[in-house]
Amino acid sequence: MEIEIKSKTDDEMVFIVRDAEVPFINAIRRCAIVNVSKLAIEDVNIIRNDSAMFNEVLAHRLGLTPLVSNINAIGGLPLPEDDDYEDHPGVMFSLQEEGPKVVYSKDLISSDSIIKPVYDTIPLVKLNEGEKINIEASAKLGYGKEHAKWIPTTVCAYKQYPEITFNDDVDIDYDCALACPRGVLKSDRRSKKIKILDIENCSMCKSCVRASANGYINVGYHKNDFIFRIETDGSMSPKEVLLKACEELGNKTDKFIRFSEEGGSK
Ligand code: SF4
Repeated sequence: MEIEIKSKTDDEMVFIVRDAEVPFINAIRRCAIVNVSKLAIEDVNIIRNDSAMFNEVLAHRLGLTPLVSNINAIGGLPLPEDDDYEDHPGVMFSLQEEGPKVVYSKDLISSDSIIKPVYDTIPLVKLNEGEKINIEASAKLGYGKEHAKWIPTTVCAYKQYPEITFNDDVDIDYDCALACPRGVLKSDRRSKKIKILDIENCSMCKSCVRASANGYINVGYHKNDFIFRIETDGSMSPKEVLLKACEELGNKTDKFIRFSEEGGSK
């Protein structure tokens, strides 16, 4: 198996995996979505809420506000499977505001110097003149398999590597390039060919194939090569998500190995 990084930023990573199987790639994808722990507001104590927003909706918005959850931030916090999880108070937040104003995520005051909302400008609630809110909340680690607020990825998907071929037995159909909505193809009448500008941007929609009346172009894919994209909500880096997902997958397979070595008796 070969892996090649195509692009990487603080919250997005695209890489190519060659010579792998669909179940393996899909297992990593699923682990990245539902088995990587991150922080989210879990308990909300609404002491006062004069706004037009229902308490439940406000609590829901707080829960979905991404919090910094990188390895430096969450060290020492218990995981749901730990014995002290229920009794641990979590990371405390307070929110006390008076209108008129829009309350933003940056107004959440954290008890921890590192753990805070990833973005400052997420609107939480609008307060009119004289309206007040007074809220206490605690954030805990959790997994995406329990609730969407604990899913660290906003995009976690793969596609098989596209393959575009031309039928040399028929006339060149320049019009098929015009049908491509993603700028993958370009007609070049001077050199009498259709150029492939960026095959990795091909979505395999087959618009070009349908537009070609004489069957000049064909679009397929490499069965064992994949383009994998991970985008996070900023709570942690895509690299951290991938590492944790692989670790989790490794733990699961270790259990199977131990089970097999013990003769399948447990
Ligand atoms: S399959 Fe779709 S995206 Fe790919 S080259 Fe054809 S028209 Fe463009």
